[in-house]
Amino acid sequence: MKRVSLIAMVVLFQVFLGFSCLWADTVSQTFSHKLSGNEASQSWEHKIDLPDNLSQQGFSFWKRTLTLSGKLEIEHEELTATYYYIKVHLAKSFWGSKGDAVVQLEAQKDAPPCNPIPTPTELTIPSNSEPTCPDFTWKGPGKYSAVSLYDVTSNQTVCERIIPGKNLFSMKEGRLSIDHHYKWGVKQSDECARYSPEAQAGFRLELHIVTCPTCHGMGWVTCTHCNGTGHIFQPGPNGQPIQVICGWCHGMGHVTCTDCNGTGRVKRPVIVVE
Ligand SMILES: [Zn+2]
Ligand SMILES: [Zn+2]
Repeated sequence: MKRVSLIAMVVLFQVFLGFSCLWADTVSQTFSHKLSGNEASQSWEHKIDLPDNLSQQGFSFWKRTLTLSGKLEIEHEELTATYYYIKVHLAKSFWGSKGDAVVQLEAQKDAPPCNPIPTPTELTIPSNSEPTCPDFTWKGPGKYSAVSLYDVTSNQTVCERIIPGKNLFSMKEGRLSIDHHYKWGVKQSDECARYSPEAQAGFRLELHIVTCPTCHGMGWVTCTHCNGTGHIFQPGPNGQPIQVICGWCHGMGHVTCTDCNGTGRVKRPVIVVE
């Protein structure tokens, strides 16, 4: 009985060895992170080294594939012949958040050179995006985009993201400051993680005086208490409803717009491309 199980173990071990030689050129790792409700935003750094057995065989890292799930985002990555570095991020959330990043690294002997990826074009902030928390779009054939947003006025990086599979970045965290100048840039890569030159664009955030969207510039809105009629009905002494003047609008049927204090104009942040 003992001998049988020993033989089984030896056979299993040989099968395992066989597989590990067969698949030796791929290293796969999953990074899972979690924030509980209202926990502060956090970033984590990870490094995957080329395994010794691969390095001894003359292999080097060549390509990587990134798959994201949940709310996890990538801030930075670097692929060299001997290691892969990744910095991942979870934003603060009222309900908490979690997510995974799956990294697959391909190692090769005498890997062919990677094709260069052209610089992205048409860097655009869509006009319907929220000016203090905008969207950013661009065009280019790369499968991975590295976006960075820099506050020129305060000399600080606002955020950096690696975005797999789409040409859109939506700011989820923080707000941009009024009267600040910003630069943003995009570079792209394919599976080789070799990035194109960075395309750049600039903008500033200004307060503009615009027509109040609540009252459409009128300075007043219809009284919701009396639906604009100026009077309401109350039960009278003998149960019969009697008509009385609306106390909210004093019989006018409309009230001053509280969003613009009756001026019909409001200040709103606007993105001005520079
Ligand atoms: Zn009223
Ligand atoms: Zn108004």
